[in-house]
Amino acid sequence: MFKTLDDMDLAGKRVLIRVDLNVPMKNGGVTDATRLRAVKNTVQDVLKAGGKPILLAHFGRPKGIREASMSLAPLVDDLVAAIDAPVFFVPDCVGQVVKTSIEMVRSEGVVLLENTRFHAGEEKNDPEFVKQLAELGDVYINDAFSTAHRAHASTEGLAHHMPAAAGRLMQRELEALSNALGQPERPVIAVVGGAKVSTKLELLGNLCTRVDQIIIGGGMANTFLAAMGAEVGKSLCEHDMIDTARQIMSKANGAGCEIVLPSDVVVAREFKAGAASEVISSMACPADAMILDAGPASVADVEQRFEAAKTVIWNGPLGAFEIEPFNAATDAAARKAAALTKAGALLTVAGGGDTVAALNASGAGIDFTYLSTAGGAFLEWMEGKTLPGVAALS
Ligand code: AMP
Repeated sequence: MFKTLDDMDLAGKRVLIRVDLNVPMKNGGVTDATRLRAVKNTVQDVLKAGGKPILLAHFGRPKGIREASMSLAPLVDDLVAAIDAPVFFVPDCVGQVVKTSIEMVRSEGVVLLENTRFHAGEEKNDPEFVKQLAELGDVYINDAFSTAHRAHASTEGLAHHMPAAAGRLMQRELEALSNALGQPERPVIAVVGGAKVSTKLELLGNLCTRVDQIIIGGGMANTFLAAMGAEVGKSLCEHDMIDTARQIMSKANGAGCEIVLPSDVVVAREFKAGAASEVISSMACPADAMILDAGPASVADVEQRFEAAKTVIWNGPLGAFEIEPFNAATDAAARKAAALTKAGALLTVAGGGDTVAALNASGAGIDFTYLSTAGGAFLEWMEGKTLPGVAALS
């Protein structure tokens, strides 16, 4: 278990808050402020409790040197708009000048410190650097689930130096993940799609023992189909992973987890938008064709399974969703999951890699119970790994 803001005495305290400000930028401007808006609840709650919020964040990969293009300074205006509070930017994150600057900020202000990764000690979790950071605050709040799979100074080290708790975003994320995989309501179905089996081995291995069914889609389904003796033609298929796919199926079988593969698929001769396509059995792809999506019978089967389920956890698209019409299966299944969620019949949690983009493209994402924007951390959590940033809070 972890503490939350509600368990902390914040009045008059300097509150170091680790946040994720890694927003996409173009020509010096923020193109998607979702992550900035996600900071608001925690900052506002700290202000209400009488604390002084001091934001710690990294940006890009400057590798321990001061890199002007990776400064957090250009984010300030967008951050002010997103969190609805004045922001005072300090152009470093440790040292006496920083300490004094923090003291000078009046009580209703929010302090933003410069990119923590401008110091090599951040990624090394260097005890001396952690100590320097710790001198700036009295309480530590981690609100960056997306970096919780890294044991860095500002994501892990600091938690050992002062009272520590999860921020609102981290709290929501951990609660959603626990509802989906910790103590889920059953039946629980995992949807695992995407390009390759090889990137999802640990994930499939862990899910086998935790969920009742795994619906496999996307390019990685082709490897499983080939393992069942199907012809896959020119489809994306990792032929060297066929034995591994068989091992996963046997592990799932032993654990009472059903592996669900598409019974029909959409194939085309070209990998491009609007390419002529046809629906065929998933066992017999012609030699000159490639499988690019699950077919309508498979989608109907997925929909029925969702209707009988209580929990769905989703990572990866069911087809090559970026190009029409090969987004059809992902879209239809996402819409079904969203409708059941809206009706209160299903808990749906999705995240990792392209998943959020795929679900949002269909317009269905908004009705999911929880969409995680944490890529790597979400996947590591689905793999059953302990996330150092989370472990340090308990
Ligand atoms: P991942 O990053 O592993 O979740 O994979 C997502 C990518 O897999 C997306 O770019 C999809 O277009 C791609 N993908 C899904 N299904 C297929 C398929 N049948 N053939 C080729 N690529 C696919």
